[in-house]
Amino acid sequence: MHKQLINEAIINLIIEPDGPILIKAGESGADPTRPDMEFVRTHYDGKETIYLPGSSLKGILRSHCERIARTVDNKERRVKRGGQALSCNPLEEGTQKERKDFSCNKYFEAKKDEIQKAVKGNEQTSRGAEIYRRSCFVCQMYGNTALSSHIQITDAYPVEVDKVVTEARSGTAIDRIYGSVLPGALFQFEVATQGTFKTEIYIKNFTTSQLGLLALALRDLQMQRIAIGFAKSRGLGRVKANVESVLVRYPSGTFWPIENGNVYGVGALPCETNGYGFREDDSVTVADVKYETDDWGSMSAELKGMDKGQPIYNLWTACLERWGKIVCAE
Ligand SMILES: [Zn+2]
Repeated sequence: MHKQLINEAIINLIIEPDGPILIKAGESGADPTRPDMEFVRTHYDGKETIYLPGSSLKGILRSHCERIARTVDNKERRVKRGGQALSCNPLEEGTQKERKDFSCNKYFEAKKDEIQKAVKGNEQTSRGAEIYRRSCFVCQMYGNTALSSHIQITDAYPVEVDKVVTEARSGTAIDRIYGSVLPGALFQFEVATQGTFKTEIYIKNFTTSQLGLLALALRDLQMQRIAIGFAKSRGLGRVKANVESVLVRYPSGTFWPIENGNVYGVGALPCETNGYGFREDDSVTVADVKYETDDWGSMSAELKGMDKGQPIYNLWTACLERWGKIVCAE
């Protein structure tokens, strides 16, 4: 699958703090009693600045997608779909797909030989296809130890470095075990309170139902239902987010029957994707989509506008219907 590039979507996202936020330098510093916590920094545009690392943003989006998926999943649905979970729990130990403690990572560790056997001499599938098809829905997007991610998120840098405002705050340290305040233990931490950060979410070889789940997570980010970074339980991490544009692109689109008004998931395009379990009917109708062809065989359409009835809104809600079909095991 990674040897082909069938379709891709690039989502431009703007994030602004709505109150203090902190993404700590040094991921190892998860100890809330540790003093003097600083924001992660880099050089950008010739100046030193704080930024929001893409890996953190991806982790936040993934865990929110997992939360949404687990909320609507149940054993009945999993059995109906041949055991495919909407989201596994990467931290669990289970290898039985219909169970709640199912972890794709553990499953693939246990099923190495079985997968090798299924693939050997079988023209209809490959190792990559078997692993993809047997992975849970969220791992199919974000990857696991056996499967690389189809989603990348770039570091979010300030649109204007000079407009970023950071402040020092102090807080009382909390005992990690008892949850009580440690007497006299004040610590300093740095927060960002103002700034506009820009990032790009890139998803390749997507299905429209995957765009649907991603749209749900982005909507929740926009509705301020997801906090980011450190000390969320103390009210830090509130952000405002806005999707500026979505570009849908098919690098070899001129060879395919691609029509305006449609967005095509990977299964709907005439490519060799045997064994992956893609749906051939994977397209949605979005009237605003008008493709442009470049001189290199690629076709792409850019959508703007997130308000009700506007192009991105229409794309998201059409894809959401496809996600609904997955949830209902249709
Ligand atoms: Zn999984």
